[in-house]
Amino acid sequence: MFSHDSEALDAIRDGVRGLCANFDEAYWRAVDERKGFPEEFVSALTEAGWLAAMIPEEYGGSGLGLTEASVILEEVNRCGGNSGTVHGQMYNMFTLLRHGSEAQKREYLPKIAAGELRLQSMGVTEPTTGTDTTKIKTTAVRKGDKYVINGQKVWISRIQHSDLMILLARTTPLEQVERKSLGMSIFLVDLHQAIGNGLTVQPIANMVNHETNELFFDNLEIPADSLIGEEGMGFRYILDGLNAERTLIAAECIGDGRWFIEKASRYACDREVFGRPIGKNQGVQFPIAQAHIEVEAADLMRWRACHEYDSGQHAGASANMAKYLAAEASWKAANVCLQTHGGFGFAAEYDVERKFRETRLYQVAPISTNLILSYVAEHLLEMPRSF
Ligand SMILES: Cc1cc2nc3c(=O)[nH]c(=O)nc-3n(C[C@H](O)[C@H](O)[C@H](O)COP(=O)(O)OP(=O)(O)OC[C@H]3O[C@@H](n4cnc5c(N)ncnc54)[C@H](O)[C@@H]3O)c2cc1C
Repeated sequence: MFSHDSEALDAIRDGVRGLCANFDEAYWRAVDERKGFPEEFVSALTEAGWLAAMIPEEYGGSGLGLTEASVILEEVNRCGGNSGTVHGQMYNMFTLLRHGSEAQKREYLPKIAAGELRLQSMGVTEPTTGTDTTKIKTTAVRKGDKYVINGQKVWISRIQHSDLMILLARTTPLEQVERKSLGMSIFLVDLHQAIGNGLTVQPIANMVNHETNELFFDNLEIPADSLIGEEGMGFRYILDGLNAERTLIAAECIGDGRWFIEKASRYACDREVFGRPIGKNQGVQFPIAQAHIEVEAADLMRWRACHEYDSGQHAGASANMAKYLAAEASWKAANVCLQTHGGFGFAAEYDVERKFRETRLYQVAPISTNLILSYVAEHLLEMPRSF
């Protein structure tokens, strides 16, 4: 069994809501309009300790679980904000925590917990390989006490507002490994040292106000002790973090879904056309009610994933299904909310079109819906592998 309404979680909700009250929808709209970064919000969330929720107490964090972390991100989105500006730190930190050496953890985690360093970026995706990660072409070659990095990445987020990045690169050529998932390694890259010394960053203009970039590596040298864990095992380490990442994204979608439903039902009660509130029409009511049911159903799977993860069980199935259901439900709620608002849904001042764009991302990133369906078909239903 799993529970999700304990007093402790309510206290977290209240705390995050209190902080978000200082960053209302007008704040997020203004940041979106200028394509800016919500620096004041990220600093406030960090200073209040919420981003260090999952860092163990011995390294300066709160030592909480995925359940609590998911509530933090859910509430940010439910209040009209965008967790996409900060969520990277929660799951990137987890990779360092699980696979970093004691020396790396002692050096970085307390500074991350205290807000002195940000670990907001992870470089995995490449322009020519896409979802087929084992074919990545970025290489890291060991030369004495250094690794030399060459290659290219795409869609790497929050580089301009992070101090550190986790980077996946091939350390053994694909032709020389027993299994294609071997021979890749992860590194902790100091962005301040790297940018301008072999790393070039090219921002990508995109549909959401999401700071994301193309990266070009041209003989970037990093210290050999930047390697996290064992050389050649990086792909497995990255996969390890994905269940947490998917569950956190599911929670963000739940927050979005609730924001859309609340906004739509309120507008349906207030807006009068033909001499009565539009919400009196079942053609307007029913889609909102349906969206609500689907968000609540997705939430059950999210709690299951959190519970399995926090109790040390394999959460792969639940995390993938939670991400799928929640992303579908929030997108449906977004569509219904926009339709309920009629023409006003397109006006920036109502925030619906902004949140609509923001929640759409989660059917593509960090994992596309098709890839989740393929995981379920192959791993849960034991159908043949399709690629
Ligand atoms: C705003 C944004 C921020 C991002 N931030 C990061 C980041 O910080 N770090 C990072 O590493 N990456 C990041 N990404 C990349 C993101 O993880 C990828 O875009 C996503 O995983 C999909 O990969 P792709 O774009 O290469 O699509 P492709 O792999 O090219 O796939 C294109 C489409 O084809 C479908 N498809 C492909 N193969 C199959 C198949 N065998 N069967 C069925 N369907 C298939 C996919 O589902 C998808 O819909 C970000 C992306 C965006 C848009």
